Amino acid sequence: MSLPRNALRSIPALTARRTLTTRVLASSLRMSPTQNIAKRRLHATIQQFQAATAVAPTTTQASHEKIASPADTTNFIDNQFEASQTSQWIDLHDPATNNLVTRVPQSTDAELRAAVESAQKAFPAWKATSIMHRQQVMFKLTALIRENMDRLANSITIEQGKTFADAKGDVLRGLQVCETACGITTQFTGEVIEVAKDMETRSYREPLGVTAAICPFNFPAMIPLWSIPLATVTGNTLILKPSERDPGAAMILAELCVKAGIPPGVVNIVHGSAKTVDFILDEPAIKAISFVGSNKAGEYIYTRGSANGKRVQANLGAKNHAAVLPDCNKNHALNAIAGAAFGAAGQRCMALSTLVLVGKETQQWMPELAERAKNLTINGGFEADADLGPLISPQSKKRVEDLIASAEQEGATILLDGRGQKPSDPKYSEGNWVGPTIITNVKPHMKCYTEEIFGPVLVCLNVETTEEAIELINANEYGNGASVFTRSGPTASLFQHTLEAGQIGINAPIPVPLPMFSFTGNKKSVAGTGMANFYGKDGIRFYTQWKTVTSLWRAEDALATQKETSMPTQS
Ligand code: NAD
Repeated sequence: MSLPRNALRSIPALTARRTLTTRVLASSLRMSPTQNIAKRRLHATIQQFQAATAVAPTTTQASHEKIASPADTTNFIDNQFEASQTSQWIDLHDPATNNLVTRVPQSTDAELRAAVESAQKAFPAWKATSIMHRQQVMFKLTALIRENMDRLANSITIEQGKTFADAKGDVLRGLQVCETACGITTQFTGEVIEVAKDMETRSYREPLGVTAAICPFNFPAMIPLWSIPLATVTGNTLILKPSERDPGAAMILAELCVKAGIPPGVVNIVHGSAKTVDFILDEPAIKAISFVGSNKAGEYIYTRGSANGKRVQANLGAKNHAAVLPDCNKNHALNAIAGAAFGAAGQRCMALSTLVLVGKETQQWMPELAERAKNLTINGGFEADADLGPLISPQSKKRVEDLIASAEQEGATILLDGRGQKPSDPKYSEGNWVGPTIITNVKPHMKCYTEEIFGPVLVCLNVETTEEAIELINANEYGNGASVFTRSGPTASLFQHTLEAGQIGINAPIPVPLPMFSFTGNKKSVAGTGMANFYGKDGIRFYTQWKTVTSLWRAEDALATQKETSMPTQS
């Protein structure tokens, strides 16, 4: 079902209709004990009806107008949106206005346990479903996400702040993981060899059990969708904790999972901050954790989760460099850099935040880059002219402004200063705005270079030669992505082979691989060994474990064989 962009207004009506119909159906359940079969059929009808009409109680209005009575975010357990009994709420504000959008619960201990019990209970039956059935569910989920693209994007723009067009990109990149998961029937085949006469060894992959995902704020749809399709299509159940700063898109995805036919308990959603994360880290029933977020949280989660015997995949922070060579297509490079540095207000793990200018000539291009950056419009994400929206919170805005100030104090040049910039409409006067900012003459020891800024700030360093550029980029401890802009094939090849970052762009500013590949950041941009990449083949491996079976079916009657007590050598 696709809802219009102002769907919020229709939600009370839908809910009321659902309640009424449920009551009518329920009253007919009060029948004599002899009518048990009819009762069960009716009960199934009620469940199907509730599943078909359950609407995530999220705000999806397509504007930054103040919401008259913001609805609280609920838990999602056993395919039900249930109000939390918590006394601890986290206020979620629209970053463009700082008006209240919803209150997010710190799910209670009982609710967290209920989610685990639900996921544990659902696992055996879900694991036992055929791969064809799970593929069909993925087909439906894929279609539903596409139908609900605008509604998901509305939620993202209100809660996260990115522009509506960019929010649709957020959904699309997650949808692509779902689409790729539809190919599970060919991706999931095992291996078999006849190792001796009448003896075969086969290896195939089985799901792990209950898994969990802990998500960051910057991609409220894409990152939940790095986990939901692959965890479930491989037969696991999943407990997802969205960012407490923007859980709305994940709640809509939960609704779509129900409509796609995912049974109760296969996907549950709980909320909160560190307390919920600690529960996930220590709960023995949870076998694997997918984490995406900052280094501070991720290194802690990886260490504690691994110590508790869980499989952990953890994608962390970044400092992505682009080397600009004088022989590049200048117009293409400057446009690509402006888009990748300032789009989404720089709040992307693959934002191009660091420029390495090779040779004097490229340094002369900086005023032109500043001109292009200046022409980008900061505005509320629903405004037609918006190129970038606000930062996620007042604390984030202050942190970004402080880092710009530190660069000034350490001797860098603020070529373009976005501090104090805000949209002209007074309704946005309280938003968390910082305009595009360019800092030149940066040196590697400066704080603006050593820290991930996660704002619309581009730091620029100067080097003389290609070799110096490679050395500088490789000396950085992060390894998410790096790009090079050049027209020379041999130079591009040199960068490709010598840069240590895990995702390389050649004349491509944000080289995030599509989900037929894996997301392959490395160095300090991942925790652990980097063997547990998100999506692609590695994603399937992460959510499954090998089972290897050796079987002997003798050609002659098995009952006639002699007992063997020595070690089988299979020779
Ligand atoms: P964050 O680490 O603050 O939050 C991520 C999750 O961890 C949230 O669900 C949050 O509730 C939880 N969390 C936060 N602090 C915690 C703590 N002390 N203990 C336990 N749990 C905690 O990250 P964020 O600000 O939401 O996201 C931005 C960061 O994510 C940036 O550093 C960005 O580079 C990174 N990121 C990385 C990738 C990638 O693929 N490498 C993708 C997106 C974002």
